[in-house]
Amino acid sequence: MAKEYPFVENTLGKKLQAGTGLTVDCLTCRRRARLDIAELVKRVGPDHGCMHYDLIKVIFCHECRAAGRDDRDLQFTNHAVTPDQRNGWKPCP
Ligand SMILES: [Zn+2]
Repeated sequence: MAKEYPFVENTLGKKLQAGTGLTVDCLTCRRRARLDIAELVKRVGPDHGCMHYDLIKVIFCHECRAAGRDDRDLQFTNHAVTPDQRNGWKPCP
């Protein structure tokens, strides 16, 4: 069983320090990807919030935008660790 974390990291900088991960699901096209927190911090700064309403401002689904679908119907999920895993989808700003 995974340990339970309180997830008090409310900014990307804190989240990066804590080494926790974030998964984003696009509810429109059902894609899922891990967010690259370090890359996100470089783009929007460590003080940017990592709550849904913060992230939705800077992240969208490229696939859906390209297809003219709703590109911000996203769901973010916190994880205790960030596995080294990529599937080629880039939901970054
Ligand atoms: Zn999508």
